[in-house]
Amino acid sequence: MLCYPDRRSALRAGAAAAAGVLTAACGTDARTPPGPPAEAASAKPAPVRAAAAPRRFPGQPVEIAHGPRDRPRVALTFHGNGDPSIARAVLAEAERAGARVTVLAIGSWLDAHPDMARRILDGGHELGNHTQRHLAINDMPEAEAYAEITGCAQRLKRLTGSIGTWFRPSQTQYATPLVKELARRAGYPHVLSYDVDSLDFTSPGAAAVIRTVTGTIHGGSVVSLHFGYADTVDAMPPLLEELARRKLRAVTTTELLTS
Ligand SMILES: [Zn+2]
Repeated sequence: MLCYPDRRSALRAGAAAAAGVLTAACGTDARTPPGPPAEAASAKPAPVRAAAAPRRFPGQPVEIAHGPRDRPRVALTFHGNGDPSIARAVLAEAERAGARVTVLAIGSWLDAHPDMARRILDGGHELGNHTQRHLAINDMPEAEAYAEITGCAQRLKRLTGSIGTWFRPSQTQYATPLVKELARRAGYPHVLSYDVDSLDFTSPGAAAVIRTVTGTIHGGSVVSLHFGYADTVDAMPPLLEELARRKLRAVTTTELLTS
């Protein structure tokens, strides 16, 4: 499943990119209504937490789509873009349930909302690179694709001291061999794919998001979700409840792959 909802949106994204406009999200849907008010993370003093550097996981393929199947853990991974109040609401729901997530941030989003990098790390979550502009990276010439990876990496480094723990290619579930090589060159031994696509970016309603995820998730799964969509916020509490009922712990991707 590609990282955009349909051909129409993909074309819209392409047109926006061609016009030099930053696209909104995987779904490139600018109609997302404002989310609930940001949760009060501001009241607590900000602990200094350094982002982890990427590392190699021996025994894992270059492109990781899931973790060990024999352990009751899953990783919820988010495309980091869109209205920061929605992002904060998703993070707050995760934290309320004791879940840790992985956020793959778009560089242009970090430019617009640099405080989100700290917010994500302070919640105990992982932060990674989802390219600078979220274009169709598999189709780009080498130099441009590399610049998309390093552009976001530089921003993460400046904001957090690390290029981010993970790299996920934009507008695709799987990277081409070239993109994998460029990611390696930029400092990421692995690229992070997923095996469960929530399709939340199509705004199908929270119930559908929950159904899609709970219908396919199992131990070791890496789930693709998105900031920027109200359905995702609404889906989080019941989804996390259902995971708890199945005794599946939502952990960071590093935890998923670490015994
Ligand atoms: Zn994306």
